[in-house]
Amino acid sequence: MISLKLSNGIEIPQIGFGTFKIPDDTAAEAVKTALEAGYRHIDTAAIYRNENGVGKGIKESGIPRNEIFLTSKLWNDDQGYDTALKAFDESLKKLGTDYLDLYLIHWPKAKNKESWKALEKVYKDGRVKSIGVSNFKEHQLDDLLTEAEIIPMINQVELHPQFPQKEIRKYCMEKGIIVEAWASLMQGQIFDKKIVIQIAEKHGKTVSQVGIRWAVQNGIVTIPKSTHIQRIKENLNVFDFELDQDDMLKMEELNKGIRIGRDPDKIDF
Ligand code: NDP
Repeated sequence: MISLKLSNGIEIPQIGFGTFKIPDDTAAEAVKTALEAGYRHIDTAAIYRNENGVGKGIKESGIPRNEIFLTSKLWNDDQGYDTALKAFDESLKKLGTDYLDLYLIHWPKAKNKESWKALEKVYKDGRVKSIGVSNFKEHQLDDLLTEAEIIPMINQVELHPQFPQKEIRKYCMEKGIIVEAWASLMQGQIFDKKIVIQIAEKHGKTVSQVGIRWAVQNGIVTIPKSTHIQRIKENLNVFDFELDQDDMLKMEELNKGIRIGRDPDKIDF
């Protein structure tokens, strides 16, 4: 598995396993399946309400905790200094671990700066190996950086061929922030895109593999989610082919600048 280096030297496996919408009572099985298939990076969040299951899956896999890169996220209602510290403790408890590899502010909100101070504290205390944000636009990062002591190491954003987020990628690259994509498979909408189907046929790979490979070749971390064992394996099997220049240009045609999820400037949850 290829890893990318964060600004503090910590390595993040470029493909991780997403767990959004996996219920708590099936998360352990899904995570175990992913770890058995070779994933070493798991992405969850307090709001997914599956941290217990994710933690159980990690334990039951028998894979040493220090071989797994584990991410969780601070939910909007818990933003603020004391509340963020408490939420971090709760996530650790549910996950059954005494540290995280990455903790993210899930969505930009009014209390970003207070929350960030809490993330900086748990980072300095050695309870999380890296800290970052999610769904932050340039102006939200600019604002955070006016007071931040530590520059976020990651920005996890919606990113796929239909919404490639070129501006934020450029901004993050200049600041040494690694970009991580959510919805690399467009939450299922990539599967009927003709261009991707044709590229997949050309390489004897699947649509999903082309979507994931596209992210990998763009230097982005990606965390596809599936609950099907075959698909979980398939999504990791992207290192035996390469998209050529022509493929990458064709993928550009999918760029419509259209999100699937919410606009971070307009969130109401
Ligand atoms: P994805 O783009 O990963 O798409 C997941 C969908 O694709 C599911 O319906 C899944 O179905 C299907 N799928 C996966 N692999 C295959 C395959 N090989 N063949 C056919 N269908 C497939 O969407 P997500 O929203 O889950 O994003 C990925 C992860 O990003 C999340 O799980 C979560 O961890 C994170 N995330 C973060 C957000 C944030 O705000 N920071 C927001 C949303 C997600 P099935 O499960 O039935 O196989």
